[in-house]
Amino acid sequence: SVVTRFAPSPTGLLHLGNVRTALLNWLYARKHGGSFMLRFEDTDQGRSELEYINAIQTDLQWLGLNWDGEPHFQSEHAGNHGDALEKLAAGGLAYRCFCSETKLSLDRKLATSRGLPPRYAGHCKALSADEAAERAEQEPFVWRLAVHAHQGEVTVADALHGDVTFALRDLDDPVVVRSDGTFTFLLPNAVDDALDGITHVLRGDDHLTNSAYQVWLLNGLGFTPPVYLHHGLLLGQDGAKLSKRAGSHSVAELRDEGLIPEALVQAMTRLGHPNLPDELHDHAALATHFDAEHVSTSSVRWSDQEMWRWHSRLLHELDNDCLTLLIQPYVPDVKTERLTAFAALIGKNIERASDAALFQRLLDVNAPLEAEALPVVKEAGAEFYQHAIDAWLALEDHSWQNLTAIVKEKTDCKGKALFMPLRVALSGALHGPEMSEVVAFLGSDAIVARLEYAKR
Ligand code: GLU
Repeated sequence: SVVTRFAPSPTGLLHLGNVRTALLNWLYARKHGGSFMLRFEDTDQGRSELEYINAIQTDLQWLGLNWDGEPHFQSEHAGNHGDALEKLAAGGLAYRCFCSETKLSLDRKLATSRGLPPRYAGHCKALSADEAAERAEQEPFVWRLAVHAHQGEVTVADALHGDVTFALRDLDDPVVVRSDGTFTFLLPNAVDDALDGITHVLRGDDHLTNSAYQVWLLNGLGFTPPVYLHHGLLLGQDGAKLSKRAGSHSVAELRDEGLIPEALVQAMTRLGHPNLPDELHDHAALATHFDAEHVSTSSVRWSDQEMWRWHSRLLHELDNDCLTLLIQPYVPDVKTERLTAFAALIGKNIERASDAALFQRLLDVNAPLEAEALPVVKEAGAEFYQHAIDAWLALEDHSWQNLTAIVKEKTDCKGKALFMPLRVALSGALHGPEMSEVVAFLGSDAIVARLEYAKR
């Protein structure tokens, strides 16, 4: 059965690009009734941090991208990586390279000046095993895969692109172990996929050449490579590479902005997968409708607007208890019962949870007015509000309709000039819920207090 994985290096927070990779692998596994594994590629010990290992799990859980079993840690497979290298070396598929950085950069310049790709020229490939072992006692060295000098080709089985074949002579001899003894990305990533029984790898097409090396390496070790699905990259709104600087958000930032996680999942799933039905789906339904073959091999552009459009749609479909929880951080210190009624009152009038703060005046007469509302109060003037107070106190049947009828009579104001100053004084904002509902929510004492406040 299908096994996919998300394999982040815990060197930073989850950003939109990682979310897409995680999501695609999650969807693929769920669609096929398989499992989805979380593997931390934590071999870059210096930069891997416990903080990020925790944060990434928090973010995935918040997004509802649950993984199966315990997370794996690449560092726990260090022994296997060493064994794999030994096996490759014994079979002539990996060799030590003693070339200095100066020599390498000279070679690269020479190749470029001749119009050739800057590949490793392969000097050290010719060393005998004994000679190399001897030099290794005194000289620094790296390990390289002996790909380039081999005859033949390697084929990446890709479910989106079809078979992608590379001639080995067109490939390089990539470094797999650095001079400090640490592995680069290629070998541990491929060996762990094999050991973890990963059947399908969905990742960006910037990994296509890596996959060629990894297939070659896995074949050399006697493992069956996974099926790859190299999808087009996620670009920023401006069409440039998505970067932290150019508008890519971290999941943590979006959570702090009060985003409903499903909105991100909805918008992200639909990128490069336009034929998903537009009615709302939960995660499970999305997975059922998800079809990996539709995932675009061209790059796709992220759109914040699209995500927030989903967000407001989802927000308006929430039941009132969920909405109450969501807005709570933005209107602190309100008793639950009152907050629940408040959520029901303003729910249709907010796009984001943080918009609840615009209506804080409904809860607290001392809350500041929306900036655009201030001139309206000034314009109406103290006399207008005194009329309103008198009218309200004189009323037997306290309703919005009766209030406006009397104020209209007393002040000669009508239309916008009548309704706006009252709406602003009572709700604090220019737009909002039905005033009859606002009046019922506030109650008599609060209404007088708000009108008094506006009069000042
Ligand atoms: N650790 C790698 C990364 O974060 C994993 C790439 C892959 O999906 O194979 O880029």
